[in-house]
Amino acid sequence: MSIIETDQEYVAGTYKRFPVEIVSGKGSRVVDVNGKSYVDMGSGIGVTAFGFADEEWMAAVTAQLGKVQHTSNLYYTEPCAKLAKLLCDKTGMKKVFFSNSGAEANECAIKVARKYSAEKKGMDCYTIVTLRNSFHGRTLTTLAATGQEHFHQLFQPLTPGFVHVPANDIAELKKCVDEFHVAGILMEVVQGEGGVLPLNKEYLVAADQLAHERDIPFMIDEVQTGNGRSGKLYSYMNYPIQPDIVSTAKGLGGGLPIGATLLGQKVQNVLGFGDHGSTYGGNPVCCAGAVSVVERLTEELLAEVKQKSDYIFTALKDAPGVESVSGLGLMIGVKTVAPAGDVVKACMERGVLCLTAKNKVRLLPALNIPMEDLKFAVETLKAAAEELA
Ligand SMILES: *Cc1c(COP(=O)(O)O)cnc(C)c1O
Repeated sequence: MSIIETDQEYVAGTYKRFPVEIVSGKGSRVVDVNGKSYVDMGSGIGVTAFGFADEEWMAAVTAQLGKVQHTSNLYYTEPCAKLAKLLCDKTGMKKVFFSNSGAEANECAIKVARKYSAEKKGMDCYTIVTLRNSFHGRTLTTLAATGQEHFHQLFQPLTPGFVHVPANDIAELKKCVDEFHVAGILMEVVQGEGGVLPLNKEYLVAADQLAHERDIPFMIDEVQTGNGRSGKLYSYMNYPIQPDIVSTAKGLGGGLPIGATLLGQKVQNVLGFGDHGSTYGGNPVCCAGAVSVVERLTEELLAEVKQKSDYIFTALKDAPGVESVSGLGLMIGVKTVAPAGDVVKACMERGVLCLTAKNKVRLLPALNIPMEDLKFAVETLKAAAEELA
């Protein structure tokens, strides 16, 4: 049996994989089992922030691996403390809870918002407001937070106490806050899985203001948009807003599983002993990788992200076969005339790996993708979009 056949036989059928078996990678290039090379424009869905087998990241990870790979949270370790301080220093947040994934980072955010509001406003203040077309994860609670019905079917009952309102409609959000006892408001600055759709600045500012006026924890899901992806450390930093809770994961560990929930002033002491936990949370190897990622998200690197973003927008926005380009930084959605799946397939045949989001081609390259790889990928995508249109 080939690896593809073995996987199809024994791995639960939750993923529709491309017929490619990847065996190695370096930088923004990967090689499949047949020796074919690809430029990677997906970075494992925004995870491999500095590409594959990056020397600096590998050195940080392997150094820690050779010392201690896990201790449980009964003891202190340097990488965990260092990463928490680094994240707080760079954001102004006060405390961090570490977990292993985006869904878990959101679970923690929701628990903090619920406890804050229960203690302050009473046990009936538990409703969490999120946006339609959002994506917050696959656990039963983060599915409840996810404002897309098709993910909910056949998994009922989900965690109760979630309400979804349309994005960019501040009147609807106000109505909702008046009608329910709202414990928290959670949103993505750019709806990633929803089609790479940025929220309006006016809406974000008004939502932030409303949440603060009503003493409702304002939560931003930075699982996909975070860690330099948007051209800022966190995407909310592109706007004059101040969330109380920020959840992140994906790019943080550069390829190792880690989630983080950043807690601002208002909620910094909500979690006490025994209120939350995770066996793997704050794992020293994952944290060592994350420290090396976050330390490299300098102003120069973020400026490079913006330049590459501009390059992609400029190259694609009026290209034949392209209807529109949306997104922020190196998180970009391309609406092609031809179906996105067909364009992605054509790109793959020509040696470029892209993602889709809803009916768009989605690009999430490594933040340090070399310009020549990026040019090749963009030219390939342009040609495919034009030919298939
Ligand atoms: C991917 C994603 C999640 C879920 O992250 P997992 O690590 O798969 O649990 C949550 N929110 C957003 C915005 C995401 O893009």
